[in-house]
Amino acid sequence: MVKISRREGRAAQLIEHHDFQSLFDVLKAKKYRLIGPTVRDGSVVYDEVARVDDLPVGYSDEQEKGSYRLNKSDDHRLFGYGVGPHSWKKFLFPPAVRLWQARRDDGSFQIIPEDYHAEPLALIGVRACELNAIAIQDRVFLDGEYRDPIYAAQREKLFVLAVNCGQAGNTCFCASMHAGPRVTGQFDLAVTEVINGESHYFTVEVGSPRGEEVLSEVPHRPASGEEKALANQIITQTAASMKRSIDTRGIKQRLYASFEHPQWDDIAARCLACGNCTQVCPTCFCSTVEDVTDLSGNTADRWRKWDSCFTTDFSYIVGGSIRSSVKSRYRQWMTHKLATWIEQFGTSGCVGCGRCITWCPVGIDITEEIAALRAEKQPATAVEAAKEDVSYADV
Ligand code: SF4
Ligand code: SF4
Repeated sequence: MVKISRREGRAAQLIEHHDFQSLFDVLKAKKYRLIGPTVRDGSVVYDEVARVDDLPVGYSDEQEKGSYRLNKSDDHRLFGYGVGPHSWKKFLFPPAVRLWQARRDDGSFQIIPEDYHAEPLALIGVRACELNAIAIQDRVFLDGEYRDPIYAAQREKLFVLAVNCGQAGNTCFCASMHAGPRVTGQFDLAVTEVINGESHYFTVEVGSPRGEEVLSEVPHRPASGEEKALANQIITQTAASMKRSIDTRGIKQRLYASFEHPQWDDIAARCLACGNCTQVCPTCFCSTVEDVTDLSGNTADRWRKWDSCFTTDFSYIVGGSIRSSVKSRYRQWMTHKLATWIEQFGTSGCVGCGRCITWCPVGIDITEEIAALRAEKQPATAVEAAKEDVSYADV
């Protein structure tokens, strides 16, 4: 995606609410399959949408530790809720994908690689934290020595319609992770939804030539100074209303110094090692491979599937698991997410979306656990190590 910088880009534009459907129609005419938020089984998930009415119109959500509830009101807001259990990673890094098939053939066998066809997808309503999560997964799947061809193929065929958040969920903490709520990074179009008395509109920022081309086919006009100011105010208020945060100063050193901290035992007494946090996390990328044969024994498939570092099998090598206790597995997950990830990929592995807090069945909250690790008395050596604090922006 070729990016247009804010300076080069056009001044903010505006699409009226009643014209928003035409944005969907233009994308469909350009052969994109539209994927967006929609209500299913009492939560907002990402699935195929065709019309604006397929979005969770008038819904808001209540999220807390281990709880999620959708509420319906009479307003016509299209994006009045936070992120749900799904993230966009399932479209770029599918939960299960066949890598190849082996077929028995006259006493020999043949390996048939999977011919993976990526289709053009338009992602509707990508939040700032999620755009940052995609950028993090780009580093994992595209920037290293081994480029993932499945991820790369789908990544090239994305149109991203991002949305600045107009409300912070109770479990969100993206502001403290420098990952939201204002959309930054690679998008094609970014909108802010504004309802002001009888007016209902979207201010639009163009992020790429492709976004520019799509917008040119949708009824729009330049946003006035007042309309832009209102949109900005909404994003500023969202950031200010965020209830949770993580103090990221020197977090890497702090976690390295906390290996023997008693808080890990406290967490282990509550954690079920269910792996929910890793499945809902938009940046977690662990996978395993499974070989499956048919009953005749003539074909065998190799599948790649999402895995979780919370299972004992994940760290199994000959003779047993390296991380056999729940304590060691939670410690590994959090230390990787917030510290060693920085060593590996030059960024935190957490964007503060809050999903792991909402969808943890026992309500373990990463922000509270980090605060406890910081607050508790450290062994003397740990305190010395933590003195090497560097600012999060420097790591
Ligand atoms: S660790 Fe939790 S808050 Fe951070 S990105 Fe993953 S799910 Fe979101
Ligand atoms: S922290 Fe919560 S969601 Fe994650 S494995 Fe433990 S119990 Fe499951």
